[in-house]
Amino acid sequence: MTPVTGQAERIFDGLGVSPGIAIGIVHLHDQHDDAPVPHYRLAKDTVAAERSRFAAAVATAEQQISKLQAKAKDLPGASGEELGYMLEAYRQMLDNSRLTRGVDKRIADERLNAEAALQREITEIVAHFESMGDAYLSARADDIKDIGRRLTRNLDRGNAGPFGQLSKNAVVLAEELSPADTALFDPALVAGFATILGGPASHTAIMARSLGLPAVVGMSGMPSSSQAGRVVIVDGSGGKVIVNPSADTLADYRKRRADLLRQRRKLHLLRKVPAVTKDGVEITLEANLELPSEVGGVSNYGAAGIGLLRTEFIFMNRANLPSEEEQTAILSELVTKLDGRPLTVRTLDAGADKTAPALGRFDGPNPSLGLRAIRLSLKRPELLETQLAAILRAGALGPVRILLPMVTNVGELLTVRHILDGVVHRLKRRKVPFALPLPPIGTMIEVPGAALAADGLAQHSDFFAIGTNDLTQYTLAIDRTDEQVAHLYDSLHPAVLRLVQFTTEAALRARIPVSVCGEIAGDPRYTALLLGLGIRELSMASSRIPLVKARIRELDLMAATRRARVIMDQSDTGRIAQLLDDFNEKMG
Ligand code: PEP
Ligand code: MG
Repeated sequence: MTPVTGQAERIFDGLGVSPGIAIGIVHLHDQHDDAPVPHYRLAKDTVAAERSRFAAAVATAEQQISKLQAKAKDLPGASGEELGYMLEAYRQMLDNSRLTRGVDKRIADERLNAEAALQREITEIVAHFESMGDAYLSARADDIKDIGRRLTRNLDRGNAGPFGQLSKNAVVLAEELSPADTALFDPALVAGFATILGGPASHTAIMARSLGLPAVVGMSGMPSSSQAGRVVIVDGSGGKVIVNPSADTLADYRKRRADLLRQRRKLHLLRKVPAVTKDGVEITLEANLELPSEVGGVSNYGAAGIGLLRTEFIFMNRANLPSEEEQTAILSELVTKLDGRPLTVRTLDAGADKTAPALGRFDGPNPSLGLRAIRLSLKRPELLETQLAAILRAGALGPVRILLPMVTNVGELLTVRHILDGVVHRLKRRKVPFALPLPPIGTMIEVPGAALAADGLAQHSDFFAIGTNDLTQYTLAIDRTDEQVAHLYDSLHPAVLRLVQFTTEAALRARIPVSVCGEIAGDPRYTALLLGLGIRELSMASSRIPLVKARIRELDLMAATRRARVIMDQSDTGRIAQLLDDFNEKMG
């Protein structure tokens, strides 16, 4: 696409969540089409579930709009006020309005699926407004259509986003993107993205770092549709989105991008050298992987293996569940490509922001605390059995490890071991080759209760992986996907650090390996502290390995241990940050 030029520069502030600078062309994700919606008649006994599905889409829209209203309040002057009025009108359209009542009635009386009922109701309301020949009501007709699109999107959550029409160097700007959306990005076409909603520890942000795409969340506004096709800069380090940059701004960012690329090339030279501290302690650096197709980065950045494969991404953007054969083929290919380095496969961690349409609705009123991760796998053991069989079969080709997400009690571990016995038995009967000896079974420590019970869990675990993303979320009661409380999400909070320390010491007492695989593992700011607390294994987005390795190689572990001790005596997060940053500065 040829960029359109000739308007004033506009800057939107936000939170940089994936470093780097993208210079590309605006693609407004939410401004797409009125794509055809599915249309079918409901069986009588599914009507109630369909009405709940619609009610859930309305509730999600209400939440989205109230978040947008909160953001609009922060916008300066008339633009914030105007947006505020529009959002208030949207909110009223949802609140037990003719629209929502009408759709609900059509689902109940006509037994129509929610999308089709919504489309019919909107067409009728719009036709009615337009027949009145009044400019004010015509404008309301556009608002109703907008709300209709939002509700359709919410009904369709977890299904493929329309990214097919992207042209090269697209910068995707959206109100919100799910991890499933980002999993559809073609890295050959997408240069970066920015969203209004979403927190820095969300899986969407994690995907951005994993794909190496500069990204900003919590953006302070959205360019208008007239700005589609214009040049845009996403500064994923500084947290800025600049639409229609002036010639000077563009030249400045081109230079910064070139400097960054030069720095990266320099770091890349570290690929083959070991991650050893100045005082001679070797640290294992492994890769986190979301999309099996990204495995090339693992060797490219010199990872010692895969410390976390997030298998839920294999379940996204598809209508059916992956079979044992398909999962075995994916894992076997990874094991073969790793060529002797271990593959740690985490069983399905679906739930909250990670959706999988084929699982249907399972996550209850509070998805982060509900039926998710290992709880879902134990409620539906056929999911776990299929995954375990695939892991065991792939393990016949090279080293694999099994990792269980969101464990909270020993009973869960015992049940998984029991299910594994059954799977082994069946594989033997089928005469299918599988991993022998059986792979180690590890526990993710990512819930405060699990960290506090780490001694007991260690007795039944072959290794621990500390998931500091969720551990921070659950310890501080901060939704990691919510940009409104993102400023309070802080893994340096003394409570989080104490849980990390306690878990590490429990693992050392039980003589089992322990790693950190949350996002702080890939941020050199935290390296000295984590090593100082006793961690010797870190797993992160492949592209972060050179940075962390550089930090390890300039680090004196004795000094880091002493600094960690001082830090652990502190109660104030600000003081902890200062003590850590001072230490890092002196070292660098
Ligand atoms: C974590 O919670 O730190 C973790 C690694 O798992 P995820 O980010 O997939 O929840
Ligand atoms: Mg987690």
